[in-house]
Amino acid sequence: MNDVILLPEVRDFLSRGHAHFIGGEFRSGASGHRIPVFDPATGEVLAHVASADPRDIDAAVSSAKAAYHGAWAQTLPYQRGVILNRFADILEQNGEGLAQLESVCSGKSIHLSRAFEVGQSAMFLRYYAGWATKINGETMTPSFPSIAGERYTAFTRREPVGVVAGIVPWNFSVMIAIWKIASALVTGCTVVIKPSEFTPFTLLRIAELAIDAGVPAGAFNVLNGDGTVGQGLIAHPDISKVSFTGSVPTGLAVGSSAMLANLTRVTLELGGKNAAALLEDVDVDQAVAGLVQTGYVHQGQVCAAPERVYVHRSRLDEVMGKVSAALAGLKIGSPLDESVQFGPLSNRAHFEKICHYFEIARKEGRIICGGKALGGPGYFVEPTAVLAGSPADRLLHEETFGPILCFLPFDSDEELLQLLNDSPYGLAASLWTNDLSKALRMVPRIEAGTVWINMHTFLDPAVPFGGIKKSGTGREFGTAFIDDYTELKSVMIRY
Ligand code: NAD
Repeated sequence: MNDVILLPEVRDFLSRGHAHFIGGEFRSGASGHRIPVFDPATGEVLAHVASADPRDIDAAVSSAKAAYHGAWAQTLPYQRGVILNRFADILEQNGEGLAQLESVCSGKSIHLSRAFEVGQSAMFLRYYAGWATKINGETMTPSFPSIAGERYTAFTRREPVGVVAGIVPWNFSVMIAIWKIASALVTGCTVVIKPSEFTPFTLLRIAELAIDAGVPAGAFNVLNGDGTVGQGLIAHPDISKVSFTGSVPTGLAVGSSAMLANLTRVTLELGGKNAAALLEDVDVDQAVAGLVQTGYVHQGQVCAAPERVYVHRSRLDEVMGKVSAALAGLKIGSPLDESVQFGPLSNRAHFEKICHYFEIARKEGRIICGGKALGGPGYFVEPTAVLAGSPADRLLHEETFGPILCFLPFDSDEELLQLLNDSPYGLAASLWTNDLSKALRMVPRIEAGTVWINMHTFLDPAVPFGGIKKSGTGREFGTAFIDDYTELKSVMIRY
């Protein structure tokens, strides 16, 4: 065991009675009902967290509403930017403790928690902070003719939508929440976040730090519990927008509940079955390194990760040989061990789902490497590569959200495009080729929200991200988020 030693503050935090963060303070749940949270590396209970009931939901939304009309409304755009920048600084100052907490809770490698959950979260916060002083409407000159010599002018205002419900999954419980918190706060909205019941702790600690950064009490609240709490939050009459990240089945339920509740605005960032295509001229070493890095990082539990890989038939043997060699070299073990590259799956239900897909892989195709759960405590499985038996294989169509890449050869570019688009999902895809002219001609024909060339799963705050088809609706990042978190009000003046 070469695990990093947990900081005393992390141990202290874990030993607290975890509940909700409402109105700038921790509040125990009204019902007293608590749910266990497990350590994925051992399968043992780590701590318990309260599960909200309708009274807690109402308290959190009321607190966000009061801050929306009160302290946050009175905070000038420049001050909002200063606060979000300070929030980023405080995240980094507390980075090691937050990273340890997240790794213990989610099974994410300590490197990944440091780099993404802390480092990139701070970067995203700073990107959004920069928008604080730049969210403006437009002026326009109406064209209708004047009847009695009068003139008209008009302008638009970008007004915050109100209280936002952010519902987040367990795979990047901090970073995905930060996308929603930052988008809400910088546009003048306030927010209630419901973390996943599997990974509730780090965000509770972050809510406390937000107060130190100057976020007013009530502007950012955390409500814990399972999907029923998410449903209750969506149905609350004072929620003006739902920003959801999670699976397609839940997303469909969330979208229809939001519409039925109050025609509530909703953005859905959902699952994918992301394709990578290795063209005939591919640089195999570069592509295999990229696929192994992005397909197996965080044990494949990344929404945009490649899961189906189409390889030009002439390069298939070379690719499979190099993938097998690379996977055999991955060190599997504790997420807190800095020399480990591959840790446990995040929770038992997901572990069982991945084991089920190993059986399907065995029946449908040929397992090239991996394909088994590892014995012992915790939710460990092997990084796995499968050669599909046919284009109809379930492993080429169903999201596993795990460390299983499924490969299929292709012969022509037209066949490749057909295979790429043969999916109900449309989150992301990548092309691996040095023929940029061919790649750019293919891009418009690929049904995906993002297409990467010679790279995969690279999210940058300046570049919009989101899915088409069943992978969702709406975009995070870029300027696109502003439309989702503001109402456009038109003002016309006769003079
Ligand atoms: P999930 O859909 O099971 O749960 C997501 C969140 O929704 C959790 O907080 C859960 O408690 C809550 N929830 C469950 N039922 C609900 C309901 N009826 N109403 C409201 N809330 C409800 O997803 P998960 O297993 O936590 O996460 C994995 C999924 O998330 C994968 O499909 C993955 O692709 C997707 N994901 C997508 C993105 C993206 O940006 N597109 C990013 C990360 C993860």
